[in-house]
Amino acid sequence: MAVSQERFDSVCARAREAMLLHSTADTLEWDERTGMPIAAGEYRAQQISTLRALVHERRTDPAYGDDLQQLVQECENEDPHSTIVATARQLHRDWQRDCKLPTELVERISQATVRGQQTWDAARQADDFSIFEDTLGNVIDLKREAGQRLSEGTDRSVYEALLDEYEPDAKVDDIQQVFDDLRTPLVKLITAIKESPQQPDTSILERTYCIDDQRDFSHFVAEQIGFDFERGRLDETSHPFCTTLGPHDCRILTRYDPHWLPAGLFGTMHEAGHGMYEQGLRPEWFGLPPGSYVSLGIHESQSRLWENQVGRSRPFWEWLYPQTSEAFQSQLDGVSLDTFHFAINTVRPSLIRVEADEATYNLHIIIRFDLEQQLIDGSLTVKDLPEAWNARYQSDLGICPPSDADGVLQDVHWSAGLIGYFPTYTLGNVAAAQLFDAASEQIGDLDELFARGEFRLLLDWLRERIHFDGRCYSGSELIERATGTPLSATHLVNYLKSKLEPLYGITDS
Ligand code: ZN
Repeated sequence: MAVSQERFDSVCARAREAMLLHSTADTLEWDERTGMPIAAGEYRAQQISTLRALVHERRTDPAYGDDLQQLVQECENEDPHSTIVATARQLHRDWQRDCKLPTELVERISQATVRGQQTWDAARQADDFSIFEDTLGNVIDLKREAGQRLSEGTDRSVYEALLDEYEPDAKVDDIQQVFDDLRTPLVKLITAIKESPQQPDTSILERTYCIDDQRDFSHFVAEQIGFDFERGRLDETSHPFCTTLGPHDCRILTRYDPHWLPAGLFGTMHEAGHGMYEQGLRPEWFGLPPGSYVSLGIHESQSRLWENQVGRSRPFWEWLYPQTSEAFQSQLDGVSLDTFHFAINTVRPSLIRVEADEATYNLHIIIRFDLEQQLIDGSLTVKDLPEAWNARYQSDLGICPPSDADGVLQDVHWSAGLIGYFPTYTLGNVAAAQLFDAASEQIGDLDELFARGEFRLLLDWLRERIHFDGRCYSGSELIERATGTPLSATHLVNYLKSKLEPLYGITDS
């Protein structure tokens, strides 16, 4: 059966129209999170929810679904990764997903998560999990119900169906394997680091770094690594993020701390990595699967690669440090490149995920991945969650949260119904290391390039191997095509060991 061009065009037109509405809501949200007057909040919420409802209506239209169904059938014998077939398959998949959840359940989830976030905030302020317990229980129950509906007629578990929203086609068993392979060597390495007498002097990063200077410097770094300011902006917010408002309009947001230089600098590199992925998607396919990011894990691999593999490497600072010590003359006077490089590579077990270094971060994620699966399958009750949380922090990181606020209440995710989201952070770290190894092998001496401030070849490699294909392949297929092997923890373990062991004077952990 041949693919009907007319049907394909009509489906694309409707998907693009939904994207116009969707990106308009995103624009309003960007404004809300950057400079909107606080009193405008209530009306803004109405504007956004009206647009979101229109998007949902467009995307669940039965006639649109019929056309997609037809198209998928017509595409049966075609190349599954061509733009046409991938567009039909992924839009059909999105349609099915949107339709599997009754409006009434979607509304209940939306109400529960709005209330969830408010109650979470109150509980965190009061440092008392019991305030949050019933509300979280309700969110978990509703998400379980959603997962059950989404998994119906598939071979996926309830948790996997929830995970699918963020990491399409990912299998829990595969993730579990990668995390298991990561955890043991990581715990060993972190223990050796903790016991090492050789420790960095982080006080040099805590001196007063004027925000205006940091802003200029971060802008410079983002531009140098390849973020395109003709097609994007860098602004400030309390919780950094990246959002794309149109085919040539990518917004990244960062946060500067006058007493912690890495927050703004690496935050910017991280968000610029997300932004460069978005800028590398094909603009002519904006709003359609070939021009959309494939998964949160792959998105995170791009941000982490620029933040860590590039931004915390020695060659990168061989290039940037002379300019840094000039920009921050009084703060870095007499501080050597070695001292600075060691300080930005500090590893120290801590309680708070968002403040964690690149090694211990993954242990925070593995704990959340295990606990959220237990909450969904019912083997852990919400009531017992704080105790389970603290026990895992004690066994995995060797520290016990002194309070709920610094423990189980630190993240907004579960209150917002984001179950299955956490593992994508570590999947991103694992993929970043693997992609970086493959790029080094295929491009040649990246160290030598970085030391000269040249990043174009690396960005082009990522564009070609990851960005260009959008959603035409799955995330795991992209990794395998780019690197030649399935996702594996080995690369991240080797990367961390080879960088951190010499810094901390460890012979072998
Ligand atoms: Zn990120």
